[in-house]
Amino acid sequence: MGRIHVLSEQVANKIAAGEVVERPASVVKELLENSLDAGATRIRINVEAGGRRFIQVTDNGSGMLHDDALLAFERHATSKIRNTDDLLSIVTLGFRGEALPSIASVSRLHLETHAPEEEGGTVIDIAGGRILNVQEAGLPAGTSITVRDLFFNTPARRKFLRSESTELSHIASLVTHYSLAHPDKHFELHSAVNALLVVAPVASHSERMYQVFGKETLDQMLAVVAAVPFAAQHVWPRTRPNDADPAAPAESNAPESNPDDDREPSPGELKLHGFVSRPELQKLNRNSIYVFVNGRLVRDRLVQHALTDAYRNMMPPTVYPVVLLFLEMPYTEVDANVHPSKTEVRFRHQTFVHDFVRDTVRTALMKARPVPQFVAEITAHATASRGLTPGAMPPPNAATESGFALQAPAVPVRNETLPFGGAIAVEANAALPLASVEYPLAPRISLPESNGGCAPALDDAEGEAYERPPLETLRPLGQVRDSFILAVNADGLWIIDQHVAHERVLFERVLRQRRARQVETQRLLMPLILELSPAQQAVFGEISDELRLNGFEAEPFGTRTIAVKTAPAGVEGSQIERMLCELLDQLHREEQALNLEMISTRIAASIACHAAIKVNMPLEQNKMEWLLKELAATECPMSCPHGRPVVLRYSLRDIQRAFKRI
Ligand code: ADP
Ligand code: MG
Repeated sequence: MGRIHVLSEQVANKIAAGEVVERPASVVKELLENSLDAGATRIRINVEAGGRRFIQVTDNGSGMLHDDALLAFERHATSKIRNTDDLLSIVTLGFRGEALPSIASVSRLHLETHAPEEEGGTVIDIAGGRILNVQEAGLPAGTSITVRDLFFNTPARRKFLRSESTELSHIASLVTHYSLAHPDKHFELHSAVNALLVVAPVASHSERMYQVFGKETLDQMLAVVAAVPFAAQHVWPRTRPNDADPAAPAESNAPESNPDDDREPSPGELKLHGFVSRPELQKLNRNSIYVFVNGRLVRDRLVQHALTDAYRNMMPPTVYPVVLLFLEMPYTEVDANVHPSKTEVRFRHQTFVHDFVRDTVRTALMKARPVPQFVAEITAHATASRGLTPGAMPPPNAATESGFALQAPAVPVRNETLPFGGAIAVEANAALPLASVEYPLAPRISLPESNGGCAPALDDAEGEAYERPPLETLRPLGQVRDSFILAVNADGLWIIDQHVAHERVLFERVLRQRRARQVETQRLLMPLILELSPAQQAVFGEISDELRLNGFEAEPFGTRTIAVKTAPAGVEGSQIERMLCELLDQLHREEQALNLEMISTRIAASIACHAAIKVNMPLEQNKMEWLLKELAATECPMSCPHGRPVVLRYSLRDIQRAFKRI
């Protein structure tokens, strides 16, 4: 007898369950997706013990015919695709036909379903993959699936589960975000003790954001909307001069390049809409970044990377924004059949998608030019977690019960090119439909006047806070501890960190000079001899040309030793060695492949940091005036090249409020 045998259906299902069902939230995800695929408009989810003991998803969707209900628990049984061609354009969330048999193999599952075209409904009970009972019953239209005792027959799996509250928070977060993706549907999530989320259908994503997160988070978010035809990718300059924003890397360094990029693009558009948080809202992990591709929630490295690029130099690299993005594209442009849990996708035109996301988000961030405020700084972290943690949700139906209806933010249609600066880019863009890209300039929710009374404090005038900050008019008063400049203008009281302010000024200047190949250098009296580690040596080999263009002339001088002959003006002799070593180490640690833009940005940031005036340095009045004037002229005066804030503002309104004058 041979040694190879085919595994039984039951074993195969359990193996598949290992991939599909990782934790209670994965069960919720699969059931929820099935309900959405079934066209449900009301979905109710009940869980107990973080979903380990009990998960129930009830919908008013199409229901299943009696025979189909049985078939649904067979492996690879699906109503959503028929042949391999269908795999190329998957319009539903499900298509693998694996979820139900997988879930049923590791739990006690109870199904109630009724398709209106049939007389009665069907009830099925399955435990550990074995069918216990099938019967007909009078049932309402739709489907209800109850999953009890998850992993009861796979103790090893059960052990890996986290605490009930952790599992519950995963479920809450998942349902929350599906509810955000489908504002037109009714969602409910209940735990044994709490209604965690109850949202009635609304007309727009921002209204749903308001229902779910409340005003404070919504205020911290910027709306993004943009569209570009796929056909534009051949003409859309991938690498472009980027004078408008020296901090933004112009060249893409997407994680992988895709050979498919060269294939004929689909007719149709790549569209993006959603919300990104202002840079001052900072989270410690990526858990608040939600990206939907054609309605499917994905964890995609490419999009994550594009977001990191968009926030680069506005936010420290160790923190993350809150993001809710919906990417829409022709189904043929994206392959969802990458992973059993369907949380990964592959874009046919990766670079195009990457650059589009990066540039759109970056543009929205630049337009908003956030001014960190004292109050906002303090509350930002608290509000960020609202709604993402169970129990912290607003009271159910808070918005709907008051009969309050938000209007979608008015999106001014602007004929505008993406701000890639330079004449070349503008010319190229002008010939493209890209010129019609729409950016909401005023992403804040604005309520029509007639809506008066029912708008709880949404219509106050804080809106002006995020318009171009009038730094030009600042008048310096003095310094706090010789480190922070106090200044005033009609807007209020400002505090400017003198070191990072100067850093921002120098950073942009160095980048400008580098681009014009006119970096000011100083020749050292004596060449500086530096000994490099092997890792530093390797990086040096790669970036020595770029270093030269930035003012560092250095030549090999024996094994692993270099002689530095010139340095950029402004960097003190004593700093040069430290600066070069830091730079080489930093680039060595960089996980992505080095590219020119990144290197020159890093070098510029490093020069700026080492040449900038320090804290604890008294400044004369005219020096302070000069610095503020220079800062006002920068492209991105609000954050230093490393992402820290440069200025804080105590607005007139806040001052009045604090003195109880308003
Ligand atoms: P897939 O979603 O990949 O098709 P599933 O195992 O999740 O596979 O579901 C199998 C089939 O069962 C689906 O194709 C669908 O026809 C049916 N089904 C599952 N859940 C529902 C539901 N809530 N309402 C109606 N039909 C459903
Ligand atoms: Mg499914």
